[in-house]
Amino acid sequence: MKIEKITSVKNRLGTNSYLIFNEEKNAILIDAGVDLDTVKNYNLNIKAIFLTHCHFDHIMFLNQLEEFYSCPIYISEIDYKGMFDKEINLSKFFHRDFSINFDKSLIMTFKNGEIIHIDSFKIITILTPGHTSGSACFLVDNNLFSGDTLFADNIGRTDFPTSSVEQQKSSLLKLDSLNYKILYPGHSEISTKEKQKYNINFWFNLLN
Ligand SMILES: [Zn+2]
Repeated sequence: MKIEKITSVKNRLGTNSYLIFNEEKNAILIDAGVDLDTVKNYNLNIKAIFLTHCHFDHIMFLNQLEEFYSCPIYISEIDYKGMFDKEINLSKFFHRDFSINFDKSLIMTFKNGEIIHIDSFKIITILTPGHTSGSACFLVDNNLFSGDTLFADNIGRTDFPTSSVEQQKSSLLKLDSLNYKILYPGHSEISTKEKQKYNINFWFNLLN
């Protein structure tokens, strides 16, 4: 299994997406902040897209990706409605005309702790509300995809619609007690669980 961090020059918010793929060139894509042409460069069969949360910069290329791959999309059932709400997904600040225009039956929702098998991949869903009320992380082997809940040197903002400081604190404790090795966040650099001990402690104490 290989993991590739990918970004798009067409996404001005510097959002990370990740390709997880195997030797058969089958892949899952974590978040849709990267345009179709960039994804196609990797010559992979995208079998599913997993969304860490509903914010615009993580779903902005879903339409073109779905037009080409027509694969299932997974999002937490709590953040599902935010995909269609310009206030909640923040698209009203960045792209007022944005809307989801593919077959909605391709969108699957999950709850906390579900285990989803796609091809050779086993994805464990971990709900980590705080940044949004339905933010989720994905554990794939020893790799944690943390969206905007936890970054290498920071944590996600908690002043957006559906954000909650209290929930974010609980989520940080949850991630602190989770077993993983490498952290793949929704922005900035890749990190490790080891390095996150200090980071989580620092930001947890600043949250009120
Ligand atoms: Zn976000």
